[in-house]
Amino acid sequence: MKLLNQNQSENAHIDAPALECIGLAKHFNGVSAVASLDLSIPKGQVLALLGPSGCGKTTALRLIAGFEEPDEGVISIAGQTVNKAGENTPPERRKVGMVFQEGALFPHLTVEQNIAYGLPKGQRREDRVAEVLTLIGLTAQRTRMPHELSGGQQQRVALGRALAPQPEVLLLDEPFSNLDPKLREQVRRDVIGILKASDSTAIFVTHDQEEALFVGDVVAVMNEGRVEQTGSPETIFHHPVTKFVAQFIGMVDFLPASHSDGTLKTEVGSVAWPDIQSDVLAEIGSNGHNLIEVMVRPDCLDCLPAEDGGGVVVEKEFRGAFYLYRVELPSGATVRCLLSHTADYPMGANVSVSLREGHHLRPFVGDRLVAVPHTGIAHGH
Ligand code: ATP
Repeated sequence: MKLLNQNQSENAHIDAPALECIGLAKHFNGVSAVASLDLSIPKGQVLALLGPSGCGKTTALRLIAGFEEPDEGVISIAGQTVNKAGENTPPERRKVGMVFQEGALFPHLTVEQNIAYGLPKGQRREDRVAEVLTLIGLTAQRTRMPHELSGGQQQRVALGRALAPQPEVLLLDEPFSNLDPKLREQVRRDVIGILKASDSTAIFVTHDQEEALFVGDVVAVMNEGRVEQTGSPETIFHHPVTKFVAQFIGMVDFLPASHSDGTLKTEVGSVAWPDIQSDVLAEIGSNGHNLIEVMVRPDCLDCLPAEDGGGVVVEKEFRGAFYLYRVELPSGATVRCLLSHTADYPMGANVSVSLREGHHLRPFVGDRLVAVPHTGIAHGH
């Protein structure tokens, strides 16, 4: 066995992910809240943990923070396992900071007293409070009471208080859900700026897909207690590996498709797919052609008036800068198309729908993406 010297062993910790969860599981009275959850976050990254209500996001945070004990699995913070059998590290020694929906500031303490709360006494404490006040941009408000601050300022103080002890990982549980939409946009921009300026590692829980795409360096989509996909916001949006992820992360329609002569054919266009995998071919062959479906997002499709285009506008939603149309295709399948407000078509209009240049048709069989066949563009119908 190769032994590490002191420096190597220290470096092992330095290089370790800021947080790693392997196979975490937690049941409550027979209900599985978290099931085989795996997560790994490098230092300095913000991971947006996204999923529907009840999928286990808060439970995952509580396990990491140490408020709950997992039934199974391992949690390591900066390379140190914190839930060894029989010696769970208590929450206050895990170097984890938390920010909740309600900032939950101490109402009888000033801004600076709130920030100083978790810090050991001494000269260093005052210096750190001053640093954090600068970081959150509230030096001028240091002596105010929480009720003398706006909702956004209160959330910044809550963030400052959590960051003051320099945690290895910061856990934010839907921190903006009580703010009105306009303020929310501004506060989340501020918060991300503060997290980046302080090189913080964070898990940011949300069930708002747009927010996840904005705040996350990495997005992890949870479903029924486990992470279904982890990737960059762009990967999650453009290359979802399951229908669940595709549907959760934005508007999407699935259209029947068939494969023949090295081509994937749909009602909105065809793309070359010569390198189809043999196992996919075998599955399609044994189950019939229409087993393939392609994923199309409304921004992927163009829609033009055409008497013999085969499509009919069956729904129309005005969205300010855009119209969202639902078009019925000759087969009876429908797709949504997002067009500029200048493309103002009446209900019942005859249209032709086609894949926009540079967009893709992602083939799914059953629930799963089977390939990214091709970078090409649709050729007509
Ligand atoms: P939301 O977005 O609505 O906050 P969530 O994704 O955070 O949901 P959790 O709060 O982690 O989900 O809950 C996951 C599942 O575990 C749910 O079915 C919930 O009812 C259950 N659960 C959570 N905590 C407990 C508990 N203490 N006792 C019993 N069941 C619980």
